[in-house]
Amino acid sequence: MKSKKLAEFYEEASSTTKRLEKIKILSKFLKELSENDRDVMYLLLGDIYPEYSEKRIGISNQLAIKAISKATGIGSKQVTKEWKLIGDLGKVAEKLTKKKKQATLHTAQTLTTKKVLENLRKLPELEGKGTVGKKLSLITELLSSATPIEALYLIRTLIGDLRIGIKESTVRESMALAFFPGLDKDGKKKAAKKIQDAIDRTNDLAAVFDIVRKKKLESLDKLPLQVGKPIKAMLAQKVNTIADGFKVVGKPCAIEYKYDGFRLLIHKKDKEVILFTRRLENVTNQFPEVVEYVQKYVSGKSFILDSEAVGFDKKTKEYKPFQSVSQRIRRKYHIEKLQKELPIEVNVFDIIYYEGKPQLDEPFEKRTALIKKIIKNHPYKIVHSKGIITDSEKQAKKFYKKALADNQEGIMLKNLKAEYQPGSRVGHMLKIKPEERDLDLVITGAEYGTGKRSGWLSSFILSCRDGNKGEYLEIGKVGTGIKEKTEEGTSFEELTKELTPYIIEEKGKSVKIKPKLVVSVTYQEIQKSPNYNSGFALRFPRLTVLRPDKSIKEIATPEEIKKDFENQKRNWRYG
Ligand code: ATP
Repeated sequence: MKSKKLAEFYEEASSTTKRLEKIKILSKFLKELSENDRDVMYLLLGDIYPEYSEKRIGISNQLAIKAISKATGIGSKQVTKEWKLIGDLGKVAEKLTKKKKQATLHTAQTLTTKKVLENLRKLPELEGKGTVGKKLSLITELLSSATPIEALYLIRTLIGDLRIGIKESTVRESMALAFFPGLDKDGKKKAAKKIQDAIDRTNDLAAVFDIVRKKKLESLDKLPLQVGKPIKAMLAQKVNTIADGFKVVGKPCAIEYKYDGFRLLIHKKDKEVILFTRRLENVTNQFPEVVEYVQKYVSGKSFILDSEAVGFDKKTKEYKPFQSVSQRIRRKYHIEKLQKELPIEVNVFDIIYYEGKPQLDEPFEKRTALIKKIIKNHPYKIVHSKGIITDSEKQAKKFYKKALADNQEGIMLKNLKAEYQPGSRVGHMLKIKPEERDLDLVITGAEYGTGKRSGWLSSFILSCRDGNKGEYLEIGKVGTGIKEKTEEGTSFEELTKELTPYIIEEKGKSVKIKPKLVVSVTYQEIQKSPNYNSGFALRFPRLTVLRPDKSIKEIATPEEIKKDFENQKRNWRYG
């Protein structure tokens, strides 16, 4: 496919903010794709490979500026000046390419999406000496042949900021509309669910598209779960009381500790153990001890386990909160030292695959029995998660208290007969934890500090995510909870280092930041406020911990915030 055609689609999709319109536009575009264009599916979401792949483009703004400069013959300083003025490097590339084309009457080669992907896919492979120069040539080659509109979207793709408002769910709905137009509303819903299930199982849009475009909905079921490729974890819904929980999951149900740790999905394929976080990141190298526990204490040649890793004090053996071990997920060096300082215990609570057979459709109680059969409990190494099966509220409350006394977050209630649905926030797995006021949000802006904080970003704009529109809405600023020194916890210096590569615009002391870094924030109250475009503001927000294990798709939504706002009012009235 000509890359210009894709760019024109991007343009059309950005011309509306209405979800249904976008779906119509995308479904028309999908119908025009040929078998050879399957990999364009990745480009639609700004990617070059399936979601399960760890290979990302990862080009900095600075390199993009250099490439624009080289391709257009306009100095880097001038490009940077334009960027500060326009605030969007893509638009800068479009403007300067237009200028150049007018000047040279250039007749460049026609770009194809195949060529674009070919060059972009070489970028993450480059390592070592001369990398920057090689990357620059690959990008410049594309830019030199690009028309202005192609340059716009090429640059946005390179810096990971496509801004066309297309998400996985838009692609799913568009596929259903494009290839099953005859279905009634119910039928379309079912088709969309089947497509989503296949996406969640494979994390490969093109593989799903291959089948959907042949209109073979039933064949989607045959797309296999693959050991060694990350799978999206099943997520829980929230209830406030045990009585409500019983009503939803039925009696009796399983009640387990809700561990205050981080999710680890453990794959074993032949002899190899691979560990993934809930955002599909491979963290095997960070946790060599877990690999060892799995090799030693879990029987079976191939399986996928779902678990929560929890930190504990190496002397007292008491469980510690997530924030005390969160750095283990990100740190890539001095692993041995960290392993000794911050030991973790793996608590296995589900099994998704075993010895060649997916376990997704087996009832929860059967899956749990299998876990008990194949894992030998080794406390402070790897164990089955603690749980009971009960229909008694009294027993459930007692267990809840015990979980809290054991420094855990609360309890999970699980329907005994339910299946495992990757990627879904299901009603058959519920979480209950003490009322606390905290939200997971993303940093989308900041201000440089003054005085002893000069040179550091010091006040951070927090945003929630409107999943339907793919937009980020501001809800407040936070500067509290962040430490002056890195040894004391999350520091200004650390945050500045983390966020600098994602700065997309600078004006005076203020910067706009690409939504990437998820943080947990506590607050005293949610207030209505015209100052932020979410319509709400947090009173006394305090940053408690970075959430490297969470993706931006999982942060709080405006609906959840509104609900919390209303609950808080209700609690004041009755509490
Ligand atoms: P929260 O912010 O309340 O911790 P969350 O957003 O991290 O929740 P949810 O899916 O809403 O994630 O809650 C379930 C999470 O709880 C799981 O992702 C998992 O990491 C963790 N967890 C701890 N113990 C268990 C357990 N026994 N069974 C399932 N999940 C558990």
